[in-house]
Amino acid sequence: MNLRHTAFAAAFRAITLTGADRWARGLGQGVGAVLMLHHVRPWAGLSFAPNRLLEVTPDWLADALQLVRDEGYDLVGMDEMAARITGPKRDRFAVALTFDDGYRDNVEHALPVLKRFAAPWTLYVTTGYADHAASLWWIEFEHAIRALDQVTLTIGGRIHDHDTRSPEGKQAAFDDIYWALRARPEAELRAAVARLAAQAGLDGPALTRQLCLGWDELRALKQEPSLTFGAHTMTHPMLAKHPVHVAQPEIVEAKYRVEFELGVPVEHLAYPVGDAGSAGPREFELARAAGFSTAVTTRPGHVFAAHAGHLTALPRVSLNGFHQNRAALKALLSGLPFVALNQGRKLDVG
Ligand SMILES: [Zn+2]
Repeated sequence: MNLRHTAFAAAFRAITLTGADRWARGLGQGVGAVLMLHHVRPWAGLSFAPNRLLEVTPDWLADALQLVRDEGYDLVGMDEMAARITGPKRDRFAVALTFDDGYRDNVEHALPVLKRFAAPWTLYVTTGYADHAASLWWIEFEHAIRALDQVTLTIGGRIHDHDTRSPEGKQAAFDDIYWALRARPEAELRAAVARLAAQAGLDGPALTRQLCLGWDELRALKQEPSLTFGAHTMTHPMLAKHPVHVAQPEIVEAKYRVEFELGVPVEHLAYPVGDAGSAGPREFELARAAGFSTAVTTRPGHVFAAHAGHLTALPRVSLNGFHQNRAALKALLSGLPFVALNQGRKLDVG
């Protein structure tokens, strides 16, 4: 766990130990929280796991849902969350569960837990992953560094050279190169990861096939009454980095494709990567114009009544793999950490 996560963990503990998560509810708690999840699977105990923030264990998911129930919160789907944002004020806080990308482990490990709690959930499908064609570049990047003893890349004219024989060396290479590439055009990022993957002898499409639900598996999920299908674009781009003639079809055609393949209306969208550099006001408008009733970012925060005019710019609360404990979740659902993080602003839609 890095320093930043250690500091967050200490803050979460302090918030719950002082009981602030209860007395501060009026201060920071909104209408609800949209929880963001990616992988749900037993922890493999890896010494190098740079994407660990994107996975939680099935046991922790069960603990988290029990906590939501113990606190007296309502588990709701995204249709109901939208209704609560725009509707009259309710006494009970609402929690929605959203899963990005369309991983097979969501069915294998999350679904049994979700059923036990009768929890509504939303699955944001990336059509290129369901086609087993698009690249899970951040996972390929992790696998390549795991396999390689030396990583050398030139990014923006600067040479990044790392000895990656130890787990520490691999983590240092990941942190350095990941953020250097994120600052570059997306085509350059993807090309660099593809080069490293080839160097490591990695089969990217096989990885997507191994991890992601195909269309037949998704169609089989239509019988789950508590599941809402959403869209997560076609190829998972950082939309705001691209011209509108790329960003718009990624949003519009993903909606139609998921509707066509699964035969259900698709009214909810998640922006890939979802930070301010990947989804901004242009994307919020594109999603609204495409007919989505809600769209979620990865900007951190609760949803408030003030989001009624911004339903395609909703923040989320990450159920983060580095913080799989009740103190952290209690603190996050109190809203208090976001009051500080967002400097008291309820809306972050710019
Ligand atoms: Zn995603």
